[in-house]
Amino acid sequence: MSSLETFDKYESAVRGYIRAFPVLFDRSKMAEVWDTDGKRYVDFFAGAGALNYGHNNDVINQAVIEYLQRDGIGHALDMGTVAKRDFIEAFVNKVLKPRDLDYKLQFVGPTGTNAIETALKIARKVKGRKQVMSFTNGFHGMSMGSLSITGNQYYHDASYGVPGYTYQVPFHKYLGDKVDTIAYLRKIIEDDSSGTELPAAIVLETIQAEGGINVSGEQWLRDLRQICDDFDILMIVDDIQVGNGRSGNFFSFERAGIEPDIITLSKSIGAGHPMAMVLLKEELDKWSPGEHTGTFRGNNYAFVASTAAINKYWSDDSFSTEIKEKKAPLVEKRMRQIMEKYPDHIIDVRGYGMIWGCEFKDPAKASDAAAQCFQDGLIIESAGADDEVLKFLGPLVITEDQINEGFDILDNALTKIFK
Ligand code: PLP
Repeated sequence: MSSLETFDKYESAVRGYIRAFPVLFDRSKMAEVWDTDGKRYVDFFAGAGALNYGHNNDVINQAVIEYLQRDGIGHALDMGTVAKRDFIEAFVNKVLKPRDLDYKLQFVGPTGTNAIETALKIARKVKGRKQVMSFTNGFHGMSMGSLSITGNQYYHDASYGVPGYTYQVPFHKYLGDKVDTIAYLRKIIEDDSSGTELPAAIVLETIQAEGGINVSGEQWLRDLRQICDDFDILMIVDDIQVGNGRSGNFFSFERAGIEPDIITLSKSIGAGHPMAMVLLKEELDKWSPGEHTGTFRGNNYAFVASTAAINKYWSDDSFSTEIKEKKAPLVEKRMRQIMEKYPDHIIDVRGYGMIWGCEFKDPAKASDAAAQCFQDGLIIESAGADDEVLKFLGPLVITEDQINEGFDILDNALTKIFK
């Protein structure tokens, strides 16, 4: 195995994924990755959802290469550039308009957490209220505002200070199938004696990804939208991981027929390049010029990459249809077969579109399975409060053969670890 000595010697102890996947990666193509020893891996991870269009997608690479070769503007803060104009036009015409959606686009620093911080700020500013509600098992990023609405205590430390004016409420089915968490939410909001302040916004992932693949119901989402309407609360949908086609539709909330007031996008919106964006209903766009700023809001290579991806995959329904009719059902079928084959160890299978997970009775076994898969040529990671859910998050461009190959590796790995 190639040496990781440089990382061990010089890089901070905070490094994480290199510990789970301890090789030197070198090349990648669509849903395949190779290390420096030439070993090939099928990718069920897709850069934590940043690579929905695959590694080194030819269409995207070609557009960026041509842009570089013609000395196109690379960095421009939020100045006007051809690349940015083309991206805005592609996004509005091919993503928003066909869905009858109308939002202002705000470009922010390039990571997901930048988009969340921005959304929290503008929601509080517009509503003039400081409280924000989020959900149990939600994950929204690592900077302080995002962390304050992220559930998992692993990321928290008392020394970071008091998380600012946030309140976690139970997500759909958090208390089991029979407890209506919407009724609870409505009650605490309308009851002046509940001890909770009226929030400016409620933030949610419609499918909680890092939190263990918890899929909210469509009626639950509509009921939540109704609560927001009834009490003048903004609905912020964090589509950083499950947007960008992951659910089979471009946005994860389309299945419920709702419209959020604010949407956060990052990860695959840049088609493999760092980029993040906040979509705001026009009446919420109350910023003064330059009031919320940042040096890297204009990654023009990401604009070029994203425009190429939108033109290729979102000009018509064919990409979405292929996901919904072929790839997603195959992933679901293979996941369910895993549960049927190992009923003593796998206690649940859940997911939607191209995000699926199987929950292990013993969380330690999920990590063992991920490690065994990696040895056998599959990159897959776990999610959930105790890392108890093994998660399929392959690139959307993965082929059906690659899906089957990856699940065969997973199946064999489970046979080895459960023996
Ligand atoms: N929101 C969701 C739903 C995420 O999954 C993530 C990252 O995994 C974030 C926000 C934070 O994004 P970033 O790590 O790019 O800051």
